[in-house]
Amino acid sequence: GSNTDFVLAVEGLTVSFDGFRAVDDLSFYVDDSEIRVIIGPNGAGKTTVLDLICGRTRATAGSVRFRNRELTQLREHDIVRAGVGRKFQTPSIYDDLTVFENLEICYPRGRGVFGSLFFRRDQAVIDKVREVAATVLLTERLEEPAALLSHGQKQWLEIGMLLIQDPQLLMLDEPVAGMSITERRQTADLLRRISQGRSVIVIEHDMDFVAEIADRVTVLHQGRILAEGSAEAVKQDPQVIDVYLGH
Ligand code: ADP
Repeated sequence: GSNTDFVLAVEGLTVSFDGFRAVDDLSFYVDDSEIRVIIGPNGAGKTTVLDLICGRTRATAGSVRFRNRELTQLREHDIVRAGVGRKFQTPSIYDDLTVFENLEICYPRGRGVFGSLFFRRDQAVIDKVREVAATVLLTERLEEPAALLSHGQKQWLEIGMLLIQDPQLLMLDEPVAGMSITERRQTADLLRRISQGRSVIVIEHDMDFVAEIADRVTVLHQGRILAEGSAEAVKQDPQVIDVYLGH
């Protein structure tokens, strides 16, 4: 099909910092229900690409079309409203609140003062919190303070805090950093489940984990695409081995 069939179409995306092109005329396309993994050496531009998509950084040129809507001119919170969720590496959960409360405060309450004034803990919210908690494997921990969760469970809670807003695109920066082997395996399952009916973009270094989750891999180098394809294909690409996997 044409490029308008993709959930996310990034075309000619460019950003310069003091004349240095951190992202350089980059184009890539992500499908519905796809897990796309972005890999590449430090400084390749991976984080900057996510920053550009979520509106944290303004593009110098190019476009980001999401469900046929142009995002590059929107403000960060309007991009969130358009259905883009971004998890950063540093956790943003509230340690003193319970797991339930952390999820509840992220439930979209509608816009403006009426949305928040008339918000109450109605059944729809409770049901949604329970559904999301089950997805992120935290049903048993709902009434505990978030501080008591393991490192991995805190990462899942953050994913849950995004999921409760029903994003159609979820972007995760090194989601399994610091996790145990078991938690990594559970996270792979979790990502596969949540990618059903939405798109997921993951920045990741661990090639075993990449191979486990990726539908397709985009390899960045100096702000450009070095290779793109299945994890198996990019792992065998001589250029990828040369600039990234070889050392
Ligand atoms: P990666 O995530 O692949 O390690 P980054 O996207 O963080 O790479 O960075 C790509 C390049 O852009 C690096 O050379 C980095 O120093 C530079 N860079 C990123 N953000 C800024 C900024 N706000 N100002 C100046 N340079 C930046």
